[in-house]
Amino acid sequence: MTVTRFAPSPTGYLHVGNLRTALFNYLIARKAGGTFILRLDDTDPERSKPEYADAIMEDLEWLGLTWDRVERQSTRLARYEDAAQELRDKGRFYECFETPTELDLKRKKQLNMGKPPVYDRAALKLTEEEKEKLRAERGNGVWRFLLNHERIEWDDGILGPLSIDAASVSDPVLIRADGQFLYTLASVCDDVDFGITDVVRGSDHVTNTATQIQIIEALGGTVPRFAHHSLLTGPQGEALSKRLGTLALRDLREQGVEPMALLSLMARLGSSQPVELRLSMDEIIEGFDLSTFGAAPTKFDVNDLFPLTAHYLSQLPYDAVADKLRAAGVPDESAGAFWNVVRENITTMQDIEGWWALCREGAEPLVDEEDAEMVSTAMDLLPEPPFSAETWGQWTAQVKEATGRKGKGLFMPLRKALTGMDHGPDMSALMPLLQKVRR
Ligand code: GLU
Repeated sequence: MTVTRFAPSPTGYLHVGNLRTALFNYLIARKAGGTFILRLDDTDPERSKPEYADAIMEDLEWLGLTWDRVERQSTRLARYEDAAQELRDKGRFYECFETPTELDLKRKKQLNMGKPPVYDRAALKLTEEEKEKLRAERGNGVWRFLLNHERIEWDDGILGPLSIDAASVSDPVLIRADGQFLYTLASVCDDVDFGITDVVRGSDHVTNTATQIQIIEALGGTVPRFAHHSLLTGPQGEALSKRLGTLALRDLREQGVEPMALLSLMARLGSSQPVELRLSMDEIIEGFDLSTFGAAPTKFDVNDLFPLTAHYLSQLPYDAVADKLRAAGVPDESAGAFWNVVRENITTMQDIEGWWALCREGAEPLVDEEDAEMVSTAMDLLPEPPFSAETWGQWTAQVKEATGRKGKGLFMPLRKALTGMDHGPDMSALMPLLQKVRR
């Protein structure tokens, strides 16, 4: 049974980078008919906010990334305490009292000597009396997990066989001096207890994975299959980390990006398979293959979402948008015809408003000087609305006759006069929807 999880910390809004992680884990679970858990990593009481947790759920729901269960780390502190005790009992956990300044000094010395800045385990040598004394002076220490100095190996689902020398990594701190459990311990306990079989996350977690494998083994758990996806960069390969704040899923939603456009892009970007618009989640699940993703940083351009959104909307049947059209004020009796006319001429659903305003109120005519006379003749020949499907053909034939204009020189000025634009839907189909013409 496949069990995956998406484990955001509710300390901010989800962005496109988080979405990649969420989506991959979701797709793995769904493709295998397994379970997808939403795990809120909320052990930090200061930074975790219920409104962010709500926003995360809202964003996932918007995308249709439904979870089977929610778990909150803040409710599992007793379990983490037990795990900590187990590690103490097994001699894999030790208390350290260095101040941040002392640690910093150690690191600088090591770097000066050309050594990797790995914690020197000085605290392991402290006697009980020394620890008592330090505790009395400095308060409780932090707790570090004692890594076994050996190579930690796993077959990464994206990066392939990986091997990290544990001696090149500091013993990770799992409990802070104020007693707060850190993510690494909580995450390991949860992955073990929830029977997580597959973990996909960003490649910034590769070192965490190495240490987590040892902690899982120390706690007698089964190590999941790990895969680390590359991090997203901007279109020129620039780091996205600082800009991710502006790429929040809710901002994309505000801008009119459609879920299927976003999902279609994210399920393929960075893989050897082409990005293709998918019209349903089932198709995305069907076509997903983790092994096609590469290790190279993945370029993401937010502008790619708009053509995909437009393409998606152009394929939507009226039924799928009836509610939105009603909300935009399009009366039901015209809505079907209106949708068929405009759906290939919008980028997002927000463009509907402009088209409907045109139908209802007409547009300020756009008339080039050289067409002024011809347009004026044409307007005299145009009957009053309502128009029919034949109006455009009949009218343009009359204008052609009267002015001698033909082809583009005939149709374009008339389109611009009626719509105020040089592009748009087929005019024969649009005419019956025009309730007003501004002359
Ligand atoms: N809360 C962690 C993060 O957002 C989860 C990482 C993981 O998948 O274990 O980075």
